[in-house]
Amino acid sequence: MKENLAHLKELQTIDLQIGQLEAQMAAAAAGLAKRQAQIADHAAKAQALAEKIESLEQRRRDLEGEVENDVSRIRDRQGKLMNVQTNREYQSLLKETDDAKKANKQREEEIIQLMEQIEACKTKAEEENNLRTAEESLLAEETAQSEQQTTELSATKEKIMKQRATKAKAVAAAMLKKYDMLRERRNGIAVVEVVQGVCRGCHMNIPPQLFNELRKENALLSCPTCNRIMFYQADAEQQA
Ligand SMILES: [Zn+2]
Repeated sequence: MKENLAHLKELQTIDLQIGQLEAQMAAAAAGLAKRQAQIADHAAKAQALAEKIESLEQRRRDLEGEVENDVSRIRDRQGKLMNVQTNREYQSLLKETDDAKKANKQREEEIIQLMEQIEACKTKAEEENNLRTAEESLLAEETAQSEQQTTELSATKEKIMKQRATKAKAVAAAMLKKYDMLRERRNGIAVVEVVQGVCRGCHMNIPPQLFNELRKENALLSCPTCNRIMFYQADAEQQA
């Protein structure tokens, strides 16, 4: 029984190492994904700005067309003013000319505002593109680093997995099954130390009689609360 417990403890250590390696690999992948999301975000912002610029430019072209129309209208009405017969006709042409001039003045003002907006959007779009380019070169560096790291971590993991396979063979099948099931259900920790009568897995007290049995190390015992396989840790008790 003592031997089985020793194997399980070693297996737990190995599995925690594997878990750490997997977490490191996942963290590296998450870092790259985050960087990619930032790049996509800058690209989307630049794209939205480009679309806004296009619609502002369109509005500006429309206004310029309207200005041109009214300029020819004014020229036309001014020509007619020379040949008017009645005062009413004269007043009407004068009003038309004035209205067109006013409308054009407003359009010119709007065109100036549009050009300022377009300029501001272009500046922002350039900023977004610069940020994206910077993030892209960081991503290239990080990808290279991550690939190297992942290769190293994978090699280490493979080595540890072999150790695990050897160790797992040494444990009785039923016990290994229980261990794996506990690990799955108990957040990766199936074997826990008991220090000063307290389970380090769930932090609950072990009944005194069970604790005494545990110290004898004659049987494989489970925590009555979290069901994890327990072992007595004398050294840790002294440290605590
Ligand atoms: Zn427990």
